[in-house]
Amino acid sequence: MTTTATKSTNIHWHDGNITREERWKALKCIGCTLWFTGLSASGKSTIACALEQVLVQRGAPCYRLDGDNIRHGLNSNLGFSAEDRAENIRRIGEVAKLFADGGVITLTSFISPYLADRDKARAMHAKEDLRFFEVFVDTPIAVCEERDPKGLYKKARAGEIKGFTGIDDPYEAPKAPELVLRPDKHTVDECVQQCVAFLAKQGILRA
Ligand code: ADP
Repeated sequence: MTTTATKSTNIHWHDGNITREERWKALKCIGCTLWFTGLSASGKSTIACALEQVLVQRGAPCYRLDGDNIRHGLNSNLGFSAEDRAENIRRIGEVAKLFADGGVITLTSFISPYLADRDKARAMHAKEDLRFFEVFVDTPIAVCEERDPKGLYKKARAGEIKGFTGIDDPYEAPKAPELVLRPDKHTVDECVQQCVAFLAKQGILRA
């Protein structure tokens, strides 16, 4: 069982010698987090990969934290119970926050099915005055299931995977996402352009 309680004692925050603003100015960037959420196979990773490529080619520092990749390392000791999903998202929220503070446009692509967990990640950023944008990848489940690039829906329908989001575990859609993408209606490139336009409007990128 994982616990999020703070176990360390006698720890003190040590400020650096420069401010975040000084760091961002030197790096010519504004750190923030784009939090992609949506069903499995909705297109989070595909769009985040393509967006990362476009941003880096424009010279913007960008880094992608991907659900499956992080579960290979930092979160390899977590499963898919509600408790482990919550801890998965808590750790990603903390890591995204550090990257954003470092001046990076941070793209997270995790199903992150529960409202409360995403709200916690948002709150972590707000507490540190860091910008957090929730991007709802709103692909209908029928389309996700038809695409099923990893064959996971097939396995879940066959009862080989238990607690699969959208099948026998809930997906709680965002109530007020900053951006909604519809990969069932738009191509990957169009979705990427919508993200770029959004970042420009937010003043993160130059138009
Ligand atoms: P997720 O990260 O949400 O689990 P993936 O990106 O791994 O989803 O899978 C989405 C699948 O849908 C991929 O096989 C991708 O090629 C396909 N796809 C088709 N059209 C689109 C689109 N417009 N946007 C994103 N993915 C798309």
